[in-house]
Amino acid sequence: CAKKQGKHRYEFFTTDMETDIIHKMRLEAGLHKALKNGEFVLYYQPIVNVDKQLVAFEALIRWQSPDYGLVSSAQFIPVAEDSNLIVEIGEWVLQTACLFGKRLHDAGLTNVHMSVNVSVKEWLQDDFTDKVASVLAKTAFPKDCLILEIVETMLIENFKKVTDKICNLKKQGIRISLDDFGTGYSSLTYLSELPINTIKIDKSFVDALLEKSNYAAIVGTVIQLAHEMGFDVVAEGVETTEQMSFLQELKCDRMQGYFISRPLAEEKIWEKYCQGMTYTNLETK
Ligand code: C2E
Ligand code: MG
Ligand code: MG
Ligand code: MG
Repeated sequence: CAKKQGKHRYEFFTTDMETDIIHKMRLEAGLHKALKNGEFVLYYQPIVNVDKQLVAFEALIRWQSPDYGLVSSAQFIPVAEDSNLIVEIGEWVLQTACLFGKRLHDAGLTNVHMSVNVSVKEWLQDDFTDKVASVLAKTAFPKDCLILEIVETMLIENFKKVTDKICNLKKQGIRISLDDFGTGYSSLTYLSELPINTIKIDKSFVDALLEKSNYAAIVGTVIQLAHEMGFDVVAEGVETTEQMSFLQELKCDRMQGYFISRPLAEEKIWEKYCQGMTYTNLETK
């Protein structure tokens, strides 16, 4: 659009936008290099039940960049999603998480589930279900221990296409979790038609729980309805003991958040949960 306007284009193409685009291009080039050089790492955040027992980990990507240091996913995932890089990154994430999940099982955490974030571009690939099956076969991670997360807004926007894949994967025994629930204004009819297992109540609701009136009622009702529809409920971003006990009262099934643990690197997870077992860092480039 700027180009068509010829010599006036600088009126529209401001310096701010220019730096923005250059920044994005640099970042994108950096991400290509990161993938090639094995600069991504996964952190794992524990998810516990109401008795505070470990039931799952959520895999969360970080970029250990020689130029920028440890970069959080919020800073680069959107850029990876805009380009098609997310598809390749996602393959690496799934494989690495399943591999680590298998090692945890072998170290004695036999029933621990592994929850992996999957971007909508990955869900929309024709061969996504085959890719998942092949990673499970390759890593020997049991399919009934894998949870795939999809963000609520993304599912609503691509309902038909994604739902077919979800049904297919679910039939194979893989579990599906609706991430950031509450940010997408799903109608309740929608919710009842979704072939999912779990909803993850977004952190913004957990934050508001004890701060804003009505939120206790909203969260309580969501949990009750979810249960009636046969879904489990995970609360995200639990930071205080008060939030934790209130969510327990509201019959929330599982919790995740800094109050329980921050996301941790592989070796920290190993230290904490697989005491006595020797940890070796496998390279998964
Ligand atoms: P998400 O899937 O909703 O993940 C939860 C985010 O909340 C994580 O941020 C986690 O570190 C953070 N968190 C957990 N507990 C607390 C808490 O008590 N307080 C606060 N303040 N934050 C908490 P993170 O790791 O920066 O990830 C941000 C988002 O980036 C994720 O949101 C997810 O949408 C995306 N993401 C992360 N890893 C991947 C990945 O491997 N693939 C894809 N496609 N997306 C990913
Ligand atoms: Mg998630
Ligand atoms: Mg979330
Ligand atoms: Mg999120």
